[in-house]
Amino acid sequence: MRLTKVRLGEQVPPRRSIVTMPPAVLAIRSVPPAFKQYKARDMPAFKLLLLPGDGIGPEVMAEVEKLIAFMNKRGLGPFETERGLVGGAAYDAHGVAVTDATMALAQTADAVIFGAVGGPKWDKVPFEVRPEAGLLRLRKELRLFANLRPAICYAPLAESSSLKREVVEGLDIMIVRELTGGVYFGEPKTITDLGNGQKRAVDTQVYDTYEIERIARVGFELARKRRNKLTSMEKRNVMKTGVLWHEVVNDVHQRAFKDVRLEHQLADAGAMQLVRHPKQFDVIVTDNLFGDVLSDVAAMLTGSLGMLPSASLGEVSAKTGKRKALYEPVHGSAPDIAGKGEANPIAMLASFGMALRYSFAMSEPADLIEAAIAAALARGLRTSDIKSPGMTVVGTAAMGEAVLAEMDLLAG
Ligand code: NAD
Repeated sequence: MRLTKVRLGEQVPPRRSIVTMPPAVLAIRSVPPAFKQYKARDMPAFKLLLLPGDGIGPEVMAEVEKLIAFMNKRGLGPFETERGLVGGAAYDAHGVAVTDATMALAQTADAVIFGAVGGPKWDKVPFEVRPEAGLLRLRKELRLFANLRPAICYAPLAESSSLKREVVEGLDIMIVRELTGGVYFGEPKTITDLGNGQKRAVDTQVYDTYEIERIARVGFELARKRRNKLTSMEKRNVMKTGVLWHEVVNDVHQRAFKDVRLEHQLADAGAMQLVRHPKQFDVIVTDNLFGDVLSDVAAMLTGSLGMLPSASLGEVSAKTGKRKALYEPVHGSAPDIAGKGEANPIAMLASFGMALRYSFAMSEPADLIEAAIAAALARGLRTSDIKSPGMTVVGTAAMGEAVLAEMDLLAG
């Protein structure tokens, strides 16, 4: 078996790989032989910008730094890292949520690895320099239009889901949310005093063809590398943007992705299907508003916030063939547990795994990280957010190190 070296955006034939197997399966299998032969010695160094942020951000990022050191040592890099401040940490040092200098580093990095920002300490700082403004500036200036949120249910955690074990065990779906358009950004966006004791609020849902086309392409390309099925969700029965969305997705399908199975669902019916029979889905593509809601629903299928990674991708540059990307756990800075060494590092480690997969086309090492996470859980290790009777509760560093130990074992 050969190592797959493709970037998202390149045409690749559908493949059968362990990525397509649910993590429940990964937990009990070893890593493919390709990994053992895999050495990245001929590759140029990948430049990573690490932005740990606030609260538990630096605690979980420390585990990613150990993982990067492990990969470099095992010849799986080389990765070069730079660090920067973001959020409250940047505000304390520089009076802004992210400096121009850090933005310049982000623009030249091959990927940005982001922890979390915010906390009560900065609740009263001016709105434009609040911690979240750092993340929003990164998303905006790197033009990250595609948000990828996988929902994976590791077998040992199936009991943590509010749904029945058989509904969620082995679940492995991906929600692709359009991130820069739609009703959150459309103009006009106003509240008008009507002068009769009433006010009128207006938000505007706007999508142009190119915005739908590029997010649809991301969805199709991902589906091609997974189980080859894409479900598009909108509300064409009541929204003009839904009519255009449906038309453009069909058009992209006909022009470039006929080999991928395409299905359409109205977003409300899709939400119902997500909790009724989530394993029917592979990749779901949807707009900003529906994606916001549906990805949170999908997240809860899997148990805990501490387990959920994400990626935000920009367009492929015609000049370099690369795309800007930021990888971050879905959770926030968790001020209630910050500084206690209790945070679950798995969402952060899995976010780094997504960087390997989507920025560096290193699918075998990414598989290895997922398999090692599953193996650490299968051994009964739990951080306090995912603890259950009979399991061994460990802290952030112990969980991070257990995942590394499993990687070491699996990689042989
Ligand atoms: P949160 O995600 O920080 O925490 C919610 C709950 O989940 C808390 O009880 C927390 O302890 C727990 N939790 C979260 N991540 C965990 C982990 N890795 N391990 C164990 N437990 C974990 O959300 P919140 O409490 O609503 O927000 C706290 C701060 O984070 C706020 O300032 C908010 O604005 C910010 N925030 C930032 C981001 C981001 O940086 N992308 C996202 C969400 C919230």
